Amino acid sequence: MDSKDKSGRRSESTTSTTKNKDKSQSNYQNKKPGGRSYSNRGRRSYKKNWRRSDIPRFRTSFKKISIVVPLYNEEESIHPLLNEIKKVLNPLGIQYEIIMVDDGSTDLSLRRIKESAGNDRRIKYISFRKNYGKSAALQVGFKNAEGEAVITMDADLQDDPKEIPNLLKKLDEGYDLCSGWKKKRQDPFIKKYSSVFFNFATRVMSGIKIHDFNCGLKAYRKEVVQNLRVYGELHRYVPVLAKWQGFTITEIPVQHQRRRYGKTKYGISRFFKGFVDLITVIFSTRYIKRPLHFFGFFGALSFLAGIGILGYLSVLWIQGQPLSNRPMLFLGMLLIIVGVQFFAVGLLGEMLVHSSMDEKEYVIKDKN
Ligand code: UDP
Ligand code: MG
Repeated sequence: MDSKDKSGRRSESTTSTTKNKDKSQSNYQNKKPGGRSYSNRGRRSYKKNWRRSDIPRFRTSFKKISIVVPLYNEEESIHPLLNEIKKVLNPLGIQYEIIMVDDGSTDLSLRRIKESAGNDRRIKYISFRKNYGKSAALQVGFKNAEGEAVITMDADLQDDPKEIPNLLKKLDEGYDLCSGWKKKRQDPFIKKYSSVFFNFATRVMSGIKIHDFNCGLKAYRKEVVQNLRVYGELHRYVPVLAKWQGFTITEIPVQHQRRRYGKTKYGISRFFKGFVDLITVIFSTRYIKRPLHFFGFFGALSFLAGIGILGYLSVLWIQGQPLSNRPMLFLGMLLIIVGVQFFAVGLLGEMLVHSSMDEKEYVIKDKN
């Protein structure tokens, strides 16, 4: 089968990439035209070295890759970005496409893209009528990607296309998703530190041990993007969504640059929205199929606390104390009512899950 075939190739490249990892990486980056290494051990070894250095160092099992770039009002960055991507990918000798997803830009972004796409059929574009957000742009890009591996990157030149071969190498080692880690982040102070906090909270709540969940630069196997559903603002938590579907995840440190043109599309509001999104993602990954576990837990907690309080007050009442001036009575009643309501919501959720069971939601790795 296809995937067996793939995994065969995968394991082959695993050994070669891990062994020569540093070597090949630096060779790729430092390769200059004519930069051959000569040996003084005679003609035979010279020939051997000559051949080795002339074969492109980069090997991948992916026949075609897709670069997906979501963008919103990035007119100045489009040409330099596309040139930089092409400069990195052309020497690799692999087939590729660049999908520019214009998220309803109101500046000249679309015109800039069309100018580039006119000269190069590998550049494709999709333009939204209005601004739907980065998640929507990514989702549509994913659906249109034809490559066996998909790379996402931001359009603002903060992500470095030179990292693409390094990300692909990780996929070749067998991982399904490789996320970039902006180890030296070139962003304003508040953004840097709020993201440290969010990454920590996400790490704790999701149990995924990576440092940077929201890096624009990521590489995916095709199966991952075919199964992802990124909407709202969930692009920040793509690794959590993918992990939950059973895909393997890793990360590599990547270069990060200051924004050269334009300004960030996310202000301070990201701080508040981020939290709500984290709850959404935890709920939708962990509890979506068993809502009663989530609501039932809080419902039971509240109900039991209420019962405890009312029990205590009942004992006092039996001993002859009046309850008319005890605010605790209301607290006990409230906790019981809230507890029952939580339970009821959980039960309703279970009924919805039961009636909407769909086999399509299970990600199948292999079959014959
Ligand atoms: N972006 C988008 N739609 C939006 C907001 C942003 O497609 O509604 C794109 C934006 O053009 C950029 C990427 O998402 O390519 C990341 O946005 P930005 O650089 O503003 O985020 P930051 O780097 O500040 O986190
Ligand atoms: Mg940016």
